[in-house]
Amino acid sequence: MNGGSRISWRDRYPDEVTCVRCLKVYDQVRLDRMLWCEDCRFRARERAARYGWFGGLAFGAACATYVWFAIRPTDLIVGAWTATLVTAVWIGQKVAREFIYGGMRFRNARAVDAVPPSLDHDIE
Ligand SMILES: [Zn+2]
Repeated sequence: MNGGSRISWRDRYPDEVTCVRCLKVYDQVRLDRMLWCEDCRFRARERAARYGWFGGLAFGAACATYVWFAIRPTDLIVGAWTATLVTAVWIGQKVAREFIYGGMRFRNARAVDAVPPSLDHDIE
């Protein structure tokens, strides 16, 4: 409940808004309601996709281990299982990617894509 106010979230912000991830200032229409700019959303998606492959491969490896030891495929159907595992990796990657992206959105870490003016010392 917010007091029944019907004001759009955009009305709370001025026209020029600072992206929380890269700290660049954009016109508010280019930011979503998490105050992420298009570039940052794109970067986050790419990063999620990259980590998603690790998740997918881990999932595929787990499936492969299960198939290998629990189902013990014969030579005849190993090809079919391989196709199934490739599919498992593919789907696992997609699911992992969504989870990772969702996690980034949830954490909504500030200024992670910002370029600090000085790199002399580490920033918290
Ligand atoms: Zn940004």
